[in-house]
Amino acid sequence: MTQRRGNNRGGRPPTPPTQSPRPERRASVAISEQLAEPVVTPLTNPDAAAIELPASLTVHKLAEDLHETPINVIKNLMRLGVMAAMNDVIAYDAASKVAAALGIAVKQQETQATSIAREGEQEEDKGHLIARPPIVTILGHVDHGKTTLLDAIRQTNVAAREVGGITQHIGAYQIEYKGNKITFLDTPGHAAFTAMRARGAQVTDVAVLVVAADDGVQPQTIEALDHARAAKVPIVVAVNKMDKPDADQEKILRQMAELGLVAESWGGDTVTVPVSAKQRTGIDDLLDSILLVAEIQELKANPDRKARGVVIEAQLDKSKGPIAHVLIQNGTLRVGDSVVVGNTWGKMKAMINDQGRRVRAAEPAMPVEILGLDKLPEAGDILVAVEDEKTAKAMIAHHQTQVASTHVLGLEDIASKVRSGEIKELPVVIKCDVQGSVEAIRNALAGISNTEAQLRIIHASAGTITESDVLLASASNGVIVGFTTRVEPGAQHLAEQQGVGIRLYNIIYTLVEELEKTLKGMVEPKVLETIEGRAVVKALFSMGKRAQAAGCAVTDGRLRRGASIRVLRDAKPIFQGTINSLRHFKEEAREITAGMECGVGMEGFNDYQVGDQLVAFSIVRS
Ligand code: GDP
Repeated sequence: MTQRRGNNRGGRPPTPPTQSPRPERRASVAISEQLAEPVVTPLTNPDAAAIELPASLTVHKLAEDLHETPINVIKNLMRLGVMAAMNDVIAYDAASKVAAALGIAVKQQETQATSIAREGEQEEDKGHLIARPPIVTILGHVDHGKTTLLDAIRQTNVAAREVGGITQHIGAYQIEYKGNKITFLDTPGHAAFTAMRARGAQVTDVAVLVVAADDGVQPQTIEALDHARAAKVPIVVAVNKMDKPDADQEKILRQMAELGLVAESWGGDTVTVPVSAKQRTGIDDLLDSILLVAEIQELKANPDRKARGVVIEAQLDKSKGPIAHVLIQNGTLRVGDSVVVGNTWGKMKAMINDQGRRVRAAEPAMPVEILGLDKLPEAGDILVAVEDEKTAKAMIAHHQTQVASTHVLGLEDIASKVRSGEIKELPVVIKCDVQGSVEAIRNALAGISNTEAQLRIIHASAGTITESDVLLASASNGVIVGFTTRVEPGAQHLAEQQGVGIRLYNIIYTLVEELEKTLKGMVEPKVLETIEGRAVVKALFSMGKRAQAAGCAVTDGRLRRGASIRVLRDAKPIFQGTINSLRHFKEEAREITAGMECGVGMEGFNDYQVGDQLVAFSIVRS
């Protein structure tokens, strides 16, 4: 089996590195693969001479940029299966394919998302880095006491109660404990945690995994653990409800050990703290442990730079307008600063801290409510302070001309990335009908040994594929594999939005084989062929000594110099190659459309016969 795969791999031509990386999913007519194999389409070339195109643009603008007529662009789009009018906006994927079909090299411009991210990733001046408070998220099964624990921590430790400040809910709060600040995200649960991560905002330094001592490990405990692990966040276990008569700490420690979290008291390195959120016992131990785990990470930030933060929640207030609850991750946000937040911008009118007090500045790890945004942002949006109002507006205006386009990452794409060495690890979420299948698949996958790339199971459980699974896969750049299970409608929608690939199987062998092939970089893209035009040979001409050209009538579409072409005789393909000479009367032509006659020359083929059919086509890989 391995041998056969090895041969296959050796036999295929390497994927050209310049192949458009994000194929258009809407294209087009699928045909026989044996003929499509040797064809290499004109490629987008990311070299300096390539024309830069944005993530999306109108058909009209594309035509302008490519120095082509809009009609020609529209025709090419139609061949790709994309029906678009002059003013329709198309994504870069489609635009690059049109360019490729026309033999024009293009590359993608930097998007606003990347430029904002870069803006936020300004060079750190190492000299200004100082320790910052840790940001903590509390995870665990429903009813195990997350909310009660958050309340207990807040009520015993919020610093400013004595000045009469009301602690208000702003999505996160900061406590002061033994002279140290700790920030807690106030939205417990792994869905919110991973939703933010899926949007590129890693906001947690320490995860507290709450397990009720009377109930033990439950499905969401495992799910939460997998989410924390996928985020590579250190975990502190809080064994809660220790006040209950049926609390069984040893049982919990045993269960946790089975999950790979071996408590320190058992000789492992997982900090495990017994607490009672209700009676507020063990809270100090928990906070000590959090500080200890955080200390090892040496969390640092630079308060002297422009702020970067993340929106935890946002709401529209009747009198105040859009309000966002933001957690500052780096830099200092000040009243009067101009910011870009997701698709909106603003000038900071006022900032209010978690105790309801107005503040003029917010430092790293500090949660604040901000006022002054133009529109309501979304949770997970990144906030970046910029030079001035003008810059902020310009960044947003630029962004609004762009339409995000996501491409669902299929196994073919992953295989291609494995081949190019871009990825060395494939994170997968596995969902099965029953727990027995989960184990069977785990075991079968454990048998895959591979050097090109490794499989990493980030979560495996029984049940349908949910939004939480999609977020987890998305945040980890992974895929979801379902075995005799189904995808919840919301999850399907989210997967399309987030570009997460979901594969469903009914046979374990096929599942394992496909993943194995993917890891070896051997899953080939599906090759889709678009017919560009047809012609029929009406006469033969001699072209110099040995070469022969065919005098043809174009019956359908068009023939293009450089296009891939197939010669059919009695409806059977007898040759496939490229048009290297195309003439209209004596003139060399770039393309000949239906209704016209032309002379066609192909390298390596001279045996035309009157009546042969020529089919011009282009290849789209998906
Ligand atoms: P969440 O769903 O994880 O946020 O759990 P909650 O904080 O809402 O708690 C669920 C239930 O467990 C509530 O009735 C709490 O009062 C109760 N509870 C939480 N912590 C403790 C505890 O330490 N001891 C006892 N006896 N009950 C607790």
